[in-house]
Amino acid sequence: MENNIDYRREMALERSKELKGKIQDYLQAREEIPSGLERKEAIREQQRKIMECLDATPQDWNDWQWQVKNRISHTSILSQVLELSPEQCQQIEKVGEQYRWTISPYYLSLIDPDNHIDPVKMQSVPSELELDTRGSLDPMSEEDTSPAPLITRRYPDRLIIKVTNQCGMYCRHCQRRRYIGEVDRPADRKDMEAAIEYIKQNPEIRDVLLTGGDAFLLGNDVIEWLLSSLRDIPHVEIIRLGTRTLVTMPQRVDEELVEILARYHPVYVNTQFNHPQEVTEEAAQACDRLTRAGVVIGNQMVLLRGINNDPFVVKKLNHELLKIRVIPYYIFHAKGVRGTTHFRTRVERGIEIMEQLRGYTSGLAIPTYIINAPKGQGKTPILPEYLVSWGRDHVLIRTWEKKVLEYPNYRGDWTEENIF
Ligand SMILES: *Cc1c(COP(=O)(O)O)cnc(C)c1O
Repeated sequence: MENNIDYRREMALERSKELKGKIQDYLQAREEIPSGLERKEAIREQQRKIMECLDATPQDWNDWQWQVKNRISHTSILSQVLELSPEQCQQIEKVGEQYRWTISPYYLSLIDPDNHIDPVKMQSVPSELELDTRGSLDPMSEEDTSPAPLITRRYPDRLIIKVTNQCGMYCRHCQRRRYIGEVDRPADRKDMEAAIEYIKQNPEIRDVLLTGGDAFLLGNDVIEWLLSSLRDIPHVEIIRLGTRTLVTMPQRVDEELVEILARYHPVYVNTQFNHPQEVTEEAAQACDRLTRAGVVIGNQMVLLRGINNDPFVVKKLNHELLKIRVIPYYIFHAKGVRGTTHFRTRVERGIEIMEQLRGYTSGLAIPTYIINAPKGQGKTPILPEYLVSWGRDHVLIRTWEKKVLEYPNYRGDWTEENIF
């Protein structure tokens, strides 16, 4: 009976039906989570409105320098575009006295003005909740892990250099708020030289991450100088750049920048898409220019309450990212930085998201969920528990469907036993 082909086909069909049932809730939910690509028309409409306010041409809009110069940091324009009340403007200005805000015209165009909890708005427009005084200003203790100017070193073989304090948009959830000064400025050339000298002197450093701020807010000449200086160091194997411009100002990734990057491979880019609504045509084109130039793009999502603390939002985000060839790399648990505590979630929520990914979708769409251990003690991966218990000859595992099974634990590789 069990070898009967018809019977086995019937069982497989039965199982297929069961599997189909396990995805229906997501198929329904994803309709309610429109991507930036699906919102294309609404975004164009907002773009027209913003261009009119700023008296801009399409050429202006596509020029990243124009986007930087015309970042919006006054409620006069914001209130026109988002139809804000005078009370809402007052609140924004009040928060602005304490925490700087500025939004690129492009990123502003992604906000749905009719949605008061719009995920793009929540990341970019100041909220009164930021005035809560709980939380620490430097929970990462970056000052204690800096052996040379601009460098943070927490690991044996890699480090980061903070090359600028500038960004295309000042994220309301920024974990480096204290470094994002009132005045935009790239790091001192002397400090950059000292950082490069430190790497030269330490041959175990094989991976250098240029970040900030936003590394792509530097001019092309500075980026090229940094890349060529790092490439001159034989032990530097890979260079990574941290930038959110793919999300906040995709115009930045122009042909000239891409040609520079391609000269210094292997080059990786880490970015931060937090919601499917940020995956737009412009973002897709910027990612395409980078990947065509051989740059590998990884996404580092931050888990944010009210924005993406939902397994279906994360699943749709990761699917949209894979479609534009961006690999979901990390999900970061939000730290307790003062002024951002309203975005924090419980760790259980992150675990639930991971639980809802594994098995339900492609392994490619499953990043690693990370808690940054306090005081710079490093990224710590957190997983749902798949290993139930441990015996000498067996382990108990449980599958993505929560079936518990005994699995034999092969003993031949135990060194004590191999002695004989
Ligand atoms: C995140 C981070 C890195 C890079 O870590 P990966 O896990 O290799 O992506 C390196 N140095 C510091 C200080 C970091 O915070």
